[in-house]
Amino acid sequence: MKENPWEIALKQLDEVAKRINLEPWIHEKLRHCKRILIVSIPVRMDDGSVKVFTGYRVQHNLERGPAKGGIRYHPDVTLDEVKALAMWMTWKCAVVGIPYGGAKGGVVCNPLEMSIGEIERLTRRYTSEIGIIIGPEKDIPAPDVYTNEQIMAWIMDTYSMNVGYSSPGVVTGKPLEIGGSEGRKEATGLGVYYIIDELVRKFKLGKPEKLKIAVQGFGNVGSNLCRFLYKAGYKIVGITDISGGVFNKKGINIDKLIKHTKGNRFHHIKGFKEGDFIEDYRKANEELFSLSVDILVPAAIENQITSENAQKIKTKFIVEAANGPTTPDADKIFEEKGITVVPDILANAGGVTVSYFEWVQDLQEHFWEKRDIYRKLSLVMRKSFNEVLNISKKEKCSLRTSAYILAVSRVAEAVRLRGIYP
Ligand code: GLU
Repeated sequence: MKENPWEIALKQLDEVAKRINLEPWIHEKLRHCKRILIVSIPVRMDDGSVKVFTGYRVQHNLERGPAKGGIRYHPDVTLDEVKALAMWMTWKCAVVGIPYGGAKGGVVCNPLEMSIGEIERLTRRYTSEIGIIIGPEKDIPAPDVYTNEQIMAWIMDTYSMNVGYSSPGVVTGKPLEIGGSEGRKEATGLGVYYIIDELVRKFKLGKPEKLKIAVQGFGNVGSNLCRFLYKAGYKIVGITDISGGVFNKKGINIDKLIKHTKGNRFHHIKGFKEGDFIEDYRKANEELFSLSVDILVPAAIENQITSENAQKIKTKFIVEAANGPTTPDADKIFEEKGITVVPDILANAGGVTVSYFEWVQDLQEHFWEKRDIYRKLSLVMRKSFNEVLNISKKEKCSLRTSAYILAVSRVAEAVRLRGIYP
């Protein structure tokens, strides 16, 4: 049974609220999403029929700035999942100190079974439907699971058509040619890489060549992360995605794997020959999670590491590149076993950080060099990691708890200062 992500998100908030003695009124306010929009999206399919999809856009909290968060297309999207993801965006933006509130969007659909034309029509109608609450100063979507640069371009175009002028600042993760930012595509993976680099230094784990890493997920985040890790000399011994898993004790050649994935529409790893391949993705994940590695990186979706499989995990460090991959029960097991978890709201914040850079560039109509973006991202990730690490030492708590202490305190202070209207 999949745990309800919204229940998990509330539990995480409740625990930290107790720990920091949060005023009950602020706690209660943060337990609710500010705005929830549910839309029906009629789409003309290629066979001439019309199918109606359900879409959501949730804004959890806007106290620190406009709402920000990705849009995912996935058959398992539910309102509770989108609410949880929106709340996690609030904390994520606060942990890295960027001036946004949290939001998320989702459409219940299976893009793997849809044509490009159907996805475009779905995207344009969904954008029109949520157009009443998004905008550069209101709520700025971005890519997430199964959405990409092209989809962001359609969102930008549809919104611009509706308002009557080009509005690049309405969405981030766009192609460069229409106001996208250098470095945005690889930003989440690169941010996770900076976190791993900082972790390796601070915990004195030794040279990259000596460290083994396993990665669940080879989408935009997983593949870019692997690329940076591979370049730095780390040995990536296992990678899984929805099409299966590849395992190689000597280390997987990431350049070749990326080249291989470019050969199919969804960039799946299936068919890669260098290493042992398990085609059943459930079995592949079981194998991946039980590998003896130094660092395990879940880079897929939520609820992947639960009380059921946490006992089998042999790594010393987990770095959460996905949103919500570990359930609170699994977290408890890791605390008992002495496994250090770098939480999602810190580890994967590189994406939204460069989204922020993209939005700032769009609003100023002035664009930065890639090396400036990388340098600024590196500073943000390393500084935030060390802030969280210091709190965990002072408070003698896990990195997740300390990231929550930092995030919730920052949002709470904004709520306190602004007060209740009227
Ligand atoms: N979808 C990404 C996330 O979960 C990026 C969000 C954004 O850039 O707004 O953090």
